[in-house]
Amino acid sequence: MLRIGLTGGIGSGKSTVAGLLAAHGAAVIDTDAIARQLTLSGGAAIDAIRSAFGDDFIDAAGALDRERMRALAFAEPEAKRRLEDILHPLIGAETARQAAASHAAIQVFDVPLLIESGRWRAQVDRVLVVDCSEATQIERVVRRAGWSPEMARAVIAQQAARAARLASADAVIHNDGITLAQLGAKVDALWAHWHRKR
Ligand code: ADP
Repeated sequence: MLRIGLTGGIGSGKSTVAGLLAAHGAAVIDTDAIARQLTLSGGAAIDAIRSAFGDDFIDAAGALDRERMRALAFAEPEAKRRLEDILHPLIGAETARQAAASHAAIQVFDVPLLIESGRWRAQVDRVLVVDCSEATQIERVVRRAGWSPEMARAVIAQQAARAARLASADAVIHNDGITLAQLGAKVDALWAHWHRKR
């Protein structure tokens, strides 16, 4: 089995690549989706979040009040750390559960903050980075989500620098100035390469 850590800055095309790899038969484990599920109503993190931050951070439906938490985490790095201390072990356990349940020969761990979090590198065999210029990131995020360029820039500034991400990569897909079909061809080539290596 080959374990791939997939990462890339916002708008790089990481999710698109994850979808293409899933179409090839990879088991894609989406750590962002796991984090979201943990903080929905009835999610495994809700009780701990309520104890740590109080009822104000749980909305009427019983889910994490994301806006409120975002504001707090932005203002107080210590609060952000406390939230991460709650979420990381739960994300790790659910990720491991999904990985153990899959019989795919290639597992892809989709981790937006793989470079930033540090603990991920040891858990995967290879790191695949999807890369593009910052201008392309901004253009895609503005088009996809209707964000302002300033919002896109603010998120990019919080993520790892492009150079740091590239320095940690075992493989890079340059997703800039190419069509989706060309991106698909790059993923096909990488998939074939991994199968030969396995
Ligand atoms: P990420 O998961 O890295 O934030 P996505 O995979 O969601 O990025 O891609 C962001 C947007 O850009 C999506 O709407 C996607 O369809 C589009 N996109 C990504 N790569 C290309 C490409 N090579 N050509 C055209 N559109 C692309």
